[in-house]
Parts: sequence; structure tokens; C-alpha cells
Amino acid sequence: SAPFGLDFGNDTSVFAVARNRNIDVIVNDVSNRSTPSVVGFGPRNRYIGETGKSKESSNIKNTVGNLKRIIGLNYDDVDFEIEKKFFNKVKFVKLEDGKIGIQCRFKNENVTFSAVQLAAMYFDHSKQIIEKETKLVIKDVTIAVPSWFTQEQRYAVEDAARIAGLNPVRIINEITAAGVSYGIFKQDLPANDKDTEARNVIFVDIGHSSYTASVAAFKTGEMKILGTGFEKHFGGRDFDMAITNHFIDEFNAKYKVDCRENPKAVYRLLTAAQKLKKVLSANQAAPFNVESVMDDIDFSSQLTREDLEKLVEPLLQRIRVPLENALTQANLTIDQIHSIELIGGASRVPCLKDFIAANYKETARTLNSDEAIAKGAAFICASASPMVRVRPFKYTDVLTGDVNVDFGDGEFNPVFTAGSPYPATKLITVNKNADFKITVQNSKNEVVSVFEVTGVPTEGVELKIKVRADPSGLISVPSVYFETVEEYEEEDVDEEGETVKTTKTKTHETQLKVSHSSPYALSAERLAELTALELELTAADNLVMQTEDAKNTLEEHIYYCKDKVSSEEWKPYASEAELAKIKELVEKAEEWLYSEDGEDAKKAKYVAKYEEITRYSNLVKGRKKQQEQEASLAKKEKEGK
Ligand code: ATP
Ligand code: MG
Repeated sequence: SAPFGLDFGNDTSVFAVARNRNIDVIVNDVSNRSTPSVVGFGPRNRYIGETGKSKESSNIKNTVGNLKRIIGLNYDDVDFEIEKKFFNKVKFVKLEDGKIGIQCRFKNENVTFSAVQLAAMYFDHSKQIIEKETKLVIKDVTIAVPSWFTQEQRYAVEDAARIAGLNPVRIINEITAAGVSYGIFKQDLPANDKDTEARNVIFVDIGHSSYTASVAAFKTGEMKILGTGFEKHFGGRDFDMAITNHFIDEFNAKYKVDCRENPKAVYRLLTAAQKLKKVLSANQAAPFNVESVMDDIDFSSQLTREDLEKLVEPLLQRIRVPLENALTQANLTIDQIHSIELIGGASRVPCLKDFIAANYKETARTLNSDEAIAKGAAFICASASPMVRVRPFKYTDVLTGDVNVDFGDGEFNPVFTAGSPYPATKLITVNKNADFKITVQNSKNEVVSVFEVTGVPTEGVELKIKVRADPSGLISVPSVYFETVEEYEEEDVDEEGETVKTTKTKTHETQLKVSHSSPYALSAERLAELTALELELTAADNLVMQTEDAKNTLEEHIYYCKDKVSSEEWKPYASEAELAKIKELVEKAEEWLYSEDGEDAKKAKYVAKYEEITRYSNLVKGRKKQQEQEASLAKKEKEGK
């Protein structure tokens, strides 16, 4: 399968694939290089990606965006409280496992889906888009997520990928993926030796919903992330909100109403605000026009870049902390920074760039900032694949949270701390005389994983435990073992021909069985169930699409035949009886097509009607074609003579 890199954005996602020694961004069903991250539900089928976005305004309650902000999150998490205001009128439910689900109208029933399932639907859609566009099989995927994603969220993303029939080979931090892009495409990096100083670059990624800053040190073929800072709730959508609120106030004051009560009105204003924000990134002023906001009121106003800057002034200060935290963690000062590289759509807002330049350093945008994450992720996926050969590129990341582990004594100790590099393995020694559990907690003191160790000798033994922060940012226990020393004698013959015995020792490693469970990863059975359901839903969606195609094909053919018959174009090639038959079939089919029956029939019915007509129409078409060919041949022969 071809390595797939997915930049799972909150607003839009980008799909990249490693193929033919290149990494390509794959265009979607309407030839865009990025795809809206939304999933919608309709009376017959799901609307995912572009279709979901285009139907959103008329399907508000059943269209879910912000997918990455609810995956792996607990319903009672404070973050979810903040998130809620960014959703349309979606109905949320608390699932049995405490996670977030949504309830929607789907096929005229109320259905509940978990956030993991919603993400899986989107992942599946991305996979199908790529497979259709490239004719390649897609299985292995590297998914980019924010650096601040917890282990819980990473497990949930992996589950979603599996439900979509993908194999998540790695969960990678977005900035790290972009950094890898930088490292593999830049030709002028410092030489990779001890005496050469690395090039330190700050990456600032301000996307739709969140902001991350990381400091990375580059040498040829190598990148080390030295420090990361973030603000989980800061991005383009906060600017959209600020603009929308401004216009809502203006609208309400002008028309003496409260349009906040009307979700469609708010949606229309928000969509227009998003557009306006982008226009103001390139222009000093722009009009703001929204037709029929509510009660048939058309709203017209305008905004200058200066007005916008006043509106977002309080937001700008929030740039500081993450950037400074990243520097502190990296143990560097701004003078030691080569450049500040901007990625993410919202970093295009001029006053953001200016703020960074004024307070820190001039910014640069030398990467393709919309595609660097997806391309880096595809490269990383390809590096992990034994099937594809890529240039070697080494990179390390840093953990953004503490990892506390209890080795069965009821006491949690930090094994890794925030800011420590990974992937990394630590060897811990403990004395045990019975089976025990290793429990991993996150920095919020919640249990993330339990590793059960069995087969511990009851006479007591010194155990060596390897605890690993793996490349996906998940904590694992790859091995637990004890050593036994065996003495043995070796015989040798010395110079004088005498046999000499020497005692030597050999160390044996005995590996113990370790089984992993996490309250955040789905069980094998549940995973199988959800995978089967997703397959079913996709098959049903495809059938709806094929049925629509069959219906369109029939309709087109009806009009085609009607035209040929009435224009007498087919007269020379068919008998009166044949033409009458075609006319009759076509008229009957047309009548049926617009009846209640034909409006919503099975695919086979449309195909059958179509074939009934083509049995005659193809005959006539064939004769016409043959005669035309003969005539053109005769003409050529004549000309040739
Ligand atoms: P996240 O990183 O939060 O998951 P994302 O990756 O989907 O989200 P991006 O695609 O990096 O986000 O950026 C999208 C955001 O950038 C949106 O809020 C969009 O309105 C904004 N944006 C895009 N182009 C411009 C522009 N020219 N000027 C201002 N804002 C822009
Ligand atoms: Mg992003």
C-alpha cells in the first residue's frame, strides 16, 4: 500500500501520498487540495468533506465539524465546555464511557455516533478519495495531531483510523511533521557534525482552532525539537467569532431583534465573517453583505483592516506565552533563532505577523505552509514502511506532559517529564516476588494504561522494566525481564599440554509476559463491530450514489432519444415501427421517472429501464455510425484516386 500522510485539520484536512519517489498532495472529488473536515447526515446517506460543507447551511443540526476537538475528550472535560460554542446546533450526548457523542437525524431516525466514529467516517472518506484519485491501495497512515494531544486522544485517533480500515503506523505532532518537511526539502542546512552549530527555527502554527509554537534544531538529515508551547484555544475561529459578534451587535441594534437566537442567521453571518477576514488579509477594507440574514432582512456593512485589528487586539497578546514557553523549554533566547517559520492559515492575518515581528523576529513563510504537515507525515509514513525507500532523516520530539508510573507499589513517580525528548526508553529496576501491575498516569492523575506483568518467580527477583515513550507519544512497556547468571566450566589445553579448567559465566534474560490495556483504547470486539458498521455505511452511501448516477443516466438518455426522434435525425436509419417503439418506450419511461415510483426507485429499476430503451436506440445509433463510416471511407477512396 502507498504511505499516506494525513494533516487532520479542524477546518480542512490535507492528504499526501508517497509515490514514484515523490510526495504528492492528492486533490479531492472537486479537485481541491484541502478538504473540509466535516461529516453530515441526510435522509438517505452521509455527506462527508466537500458535500458536507456545501450542505451545511441547509443541514445545520446534522452537520458536525470541529471533529478533532471532540475526539478522545471526556464529556465532562473543561475543554469541551469551551468547544461547545463553536458547534452549530448539534445535539451532544454523554456516552456510557464518559466520552462525547452526537445525536442526529440519519435516514429519518435518531442515531447516536461517538466522536471516534465521526473521525473514522472522515478518515474513511479521505482514504476513498485517494484510492479513487490515485488507483493505489491505501492502508498505512501517519496522522498529524497537535503536540498537546494527550495519550487518550492519540489512542482515540488510532482507533478511528482502524475503524476506517487504515493502519495507523504513527501519530505525529503537526509541527514535527512540518519540521520534517523543512528538513528534507531545505538544501542549505548546516553540516551534520559535532562542531557545526545547528540552525534553530521556531515554527509557529496558528490554525483554525489552536496555536502551537516549537523550536527545532536542524542539521543536514536531522531535526531535534527542543521545546514546544501551545494555546489549545486560539486560532482563526476566534477571529471569526470576534468579527461575527461585532456584526451581530450591529445587526441587532439596527433592526431591533436578537439574531443570536437564530442558528441559521448566526451561521450566515459567521460564514461571511470568515470570508471577510481572508479578504482583509490582502485588502485594507472590504464590504460585508449577507442576504436574508433572518426575516428576509438583507444586511450590508463593511469593515476596514484597522477596525479588525481593534477587534482582535486582545487576541494578539495570546501569541506570547506559547512562543516564550517554547524558547524557555529549548533553553534558547530569540537571538539564537535563525528564523520564525509561519504555518497554518490564520498566521496569514497581517497583524499577527506584525505582532510577532515587532516583539520577536521577522517572520518567514518559506515552506508551502498549507501542505507541509501532510507531506511531512507522508514522508514519515514512508520511512516506517519496509516497502518504500526514502532518504534517511532522523528526528526527535519532546513530550508536552508528565508521565507518572506506578510499578505496583501504589506510588506514582515521574518516568518522563514534560519537555523530555522522545522516542526514548528508560530502564527501571524493581524487586518483585509476585505478579504485579504497572500503571501509567497522565499529568492530570488519570490512568491511561495498565500493563499486567505475569510469571514473576515467587522466590523474588530483580526485574528490569523498559518503559518507552514511543514515536507516537504513547507510553509502552516493551519488555520486563530478569537476568540469571549461569556458571560453566571451559576446558582448555595449555602450552605444556595440560588440561586447564576455567569457570565462566553466561547471563540469561528471561522475558515475562506483559499485557496492555487502556481505558481509552477500544476493545478488539468493539473495534471489529464498529469497523463492520463503517463498511456497511460506506457501502450504503455508495449504493445511493450509484443509484443517483443510474437515474441521471436514464434521464439523460430519455432526452437524447426524444431529441433524435423529434428532429428526425434518426429517420434514415430506422423503420417507422422502430421509431414508434422508441418513442413509446421513452414516453413511458419519462412518465414513470417523474411519478412517485420513479422518483425513489432501486438502482436496478433505473438500469432496467435504460437497457429497455437502449436495446432499440443502440441499434439505430449503430446503423448511423456504420453508414457514416462507410461514407467517409468512400470519400477518402475517391479523394485518393
Ligand atoms: P487546526 O490546525 O486548528 O486543526 P486547520 O489545520 O484546519 O486547523 P488551517 O487550515 O491551518 O487550520 O487554517 C485555517 C484557518 O485559517 C481558518 O480559520 C481560516 O479562516 C484561516 N485563514 C485561511 N486563509 C486565511 C487568510 N488569507 N487570512 C486570514 N485567515 C485565513
Ligand atoms: Mg492545522
